[in-house]
Amino acid sequence: MSDNERLELAELLFPNIKQTREELEERYPERELSEGAKVTRFAPSPTGFMHIGGLESAFLDYIYAEQSNGVFYLRIEDTDRERYVEEATDLIKSSLQTFDIMPSEGALNGGNYGPYVQSERKEIYQTYIKDLIIKGLAYPCFMSKEELEEIREGQELRKEPLGVYGVYAVDRDLSLDEIKEHLSNNDSYVIRIKSPGSLENTVILHDLIKGDITLPENVIDEVIMKKDGLPTYHFAHVIDDHLMHTTVVIRGDEWVPSFPKHLQLFSMLGFKTPKYAHYAPLTKKENGNVRKLSKRKDPEFSVEFYEKEGIPSMGVKLFLSTIINTNFEEWYLQNSDKSFMDFNFSFKKMPTGGTLFDMEKLNNICRTYFSRLSAEDLYKEALPYYEKYDKDFYKLMTDNKDLLISFLNIERDGKRPRKDIATYKDIKNESIYMFNDLFYNLENNEIKCNHKDILLKYAECYNENDTQDEWYERIKDLAINNNYAASVKEFKAEPDKYNGHIGDICEEVRHAVTLKTQSPNLYDILKILGKEEIAKRINNFIK
Ligand code: GLU
Repeated sequence: MSDNERLELAELLFPNIKQTREELEERYPERELSEGAKVTRFAPSPTGFMHIGGLESAFLDYIYAEQSNGVFYLRIEDTDRERYVEEATDLIKSSLQTFDIMPSEGALNGGNYGPYVQSERKEIYQTYIKDLIIKGLAYPCFMSKEELEEIREGQELRKEPLGVYGVYAVDRDLSLDEIKEHLSNNDSYVIRIKSPGSLENTVILHDLIKGDITLPENVIDEVIMKKDGLPTYHFAHVIDDHLMHTTVVIRGDEWVPSFPKHLQLFSMLGFKTPKYAHYAPLTKKENGNVRKLSKRKDPEFSVEFYEKEGIPSMGVKLFLSTIINTNFEEWYLQNSDKSFMDFNFSFKKMPTGGTLFDMEKLNNICRTYFSRLSAEDLYKEALPYYEKYDKDFYKLMTDNKDLLISFLNIERDGKRPRKDIATYKDIKNESIYMFNDLFYNLENNEIKCNHKDILLKYAECYNENDTQDEWYERIKDLAINNNYAASVKEFKAEPDKYNGHIGDICEEVRHAVTLKTQSPNLYDILKILGKEEIAKRINNFIK
């Protein structure tokens, strides 16, 4: 085709595109950022499901942009209209809000590089496609589904690489007249690039996480515009990351095999290639095997799971931090006064293979996180959860604020603060006996009353004004006066001599007032309950 014919073809295919790519380049100039500032983007497809891998991706984008004084923006990649779900963008928004991973620019809050929704950028993509047609680097392809299928079957049989390339790219050299005929017949078509690649060549992906990866060069005449006039992911992200001036594309490593296509597109369009960081998928151990987290099998794959389970968003972020950088956890345990943003995240410390998503570890991180909050802050943080998911307890919490905070405050200071709370749900589970309304409905058939007489005596001699030491001395006196050993050691030496030991008394009191086998410091619990309530519970227990 001559230069003039290509111009004519471009006009025929894109009569409505009047702007030039030069005009677009001017409209979206280089960003004015300090040296080393990273521009990252979270680019989800609105399929109506937000998974934890997506959140990890957004978190990575957020961290690296924030820590470099760069920009983190949100782009909605909705060119696949078959998978499009109307409410999906709301879900993306609310998830980012819940976890406080908010982009500073993009589909939620606008900016100078929009529109940030791909379906609203059709003209932009078509401007570049028109330009590629004029340059002879792209062409309309009218091949039918059946023809493509036939080619594929032949290639499979001959064990050749699959796709439209070389001799299989039959529409590559259609004349202008042939194309006009197709168009006048209203034949549907896609636009493909004319790949300049060769099967003999390789390209190198300098991945920030995985290091250098050598891949075969792309030879396929990749589809860049679909029949509906919208671009494919491959083309759209290249245009967008160029015009929006992304400096690092952080995405899942399922995209590594497509990298040669993307590299080729950047080069054919004359764009500078951004840096790439491909992170490994989240995995899980099952029957000795390791597999990817799955939407169907794993509730924790969905981002909504965490909120419903009362898992704090900060706990999830801390956990993701341990996944993102292998040296984070140790740092976090040593730096109790710092925020995760004080940690120096680095692509070099990211795992290159699949990362185990260990719920137990998540729980432990949450325990540590909660143990570092003041009782007041823990209380405040938990309120919205109960307001949404357990209105009755929410009322108890607000009616008995001081009581609950006193309870949460037990064993909070000191070197080894208590770690019995991993989720907001645990606050109710652990404190349930502190609320008379709930306590008297509790049942625990495993706990029996074994030392009735001593319990009754204890109810009588308990003194609210005792210090912790005096309190213990009092129990000791009670033990000695009633033929209980004052220590376990004494008891073990002559078990037949005693009715039991001091530990039995404490256990029995704990059982009576909490109906649990474990609790935070008993002295503090008793003090909060008060003498009258203790006596009431002991009498109740004995019955
Ligand atoms: N829309 C793509 C996806 O959801 C994004 C990949 C990317 O970040 O470039 O998989």
